[in-house]
Amino acid sequence: MTEPTTRVAHAWRPDRFMVIAAHPDDAEFGPAGTAARWIDAGSQGWLVCCTSGDQGGDDPDADPLELAALRESEQRSAAAIIGYAGVTFLHQPDGALANDLPLREHLVREIRTFRPDAVLATDPDTLFYKGGGINHTDHRAAGLAAVDAVYPAARNPMAFPSLARSGLAAHRVRRLYLFWSDRADTWVDISATLDRKLDALRAHASQIHEPEGLATRIRSWAAEEGSGIEAAAAEALRLVVIDDDEDEGPG
Ligand SMILES: [Zn+2]
Repeated sequence: MTEPTTRVAHAWRPDRFMVIAAHPDDAEFGPAGTAARWIDAGSQGWLVCCTSGDQGGDDPDADPLELAALRESEQRSAAAIIGYAGVTFLHQPDGALANDLPLREHLVREIRTFRPDAVLATDPDTLFYKGGGINHTDHRAAGLAAVDAVYPAARNPMAFPSLARSGLAAHRVRRLYLFWSDRADTWVDISATLDRKLDALRAHASQIHEPEGLATRIRSWAAEEGSGIEAAAAEALRLVVIDDDEDEGPG
């Protein structure tokens, strides 16, 4: 039998964190309120977009390269609103993202360069959403590649040895926070940053056609997540602790 649990607002904060997303706008639909809250409290955040969203439109005659450039510029504006220190685009193909060795090497390079304590990524376990719908293949691939890059590759100096030889030493990410998860177990109070999340979402103008309707829906979801921790708004995450705070092993 499991004991009934009382939810509390999540208080731990990484000094440095990295959000790994499949597409421009995923980070804003995802944990932008958490990212903004942590940045306001002194954390440094970095955003990695695996693709540039070059299939994110309805016009088959549209130029995918033009769309990618537009979406990168929208993503940079959104990231500036949240306060990320920077954004990296890996320029992988939208709709065809694969958790393969080249993608993992890209992600390990990013992790070893920025050296985050925590990585936030899409939950790769989500194939069908509980409330209906299918999780995009790129979200699953990016989530799985992020997990595999975090552990073991980023912390294993023998993985992708050319990285260590070029000065990018192994790095231990201590925690993973998975978003868009049906197994959320962690709620971050975003009451103070929900408006900024909505502003950042509006920066993705090519993707968002009814910003007011979207804002209403997001406010209502955030209020629902917040109700369990007695906050006006929250984001729900699934936390994976890889290294306990007490576990200060070398390397
Ligand atoms: Zn997406």
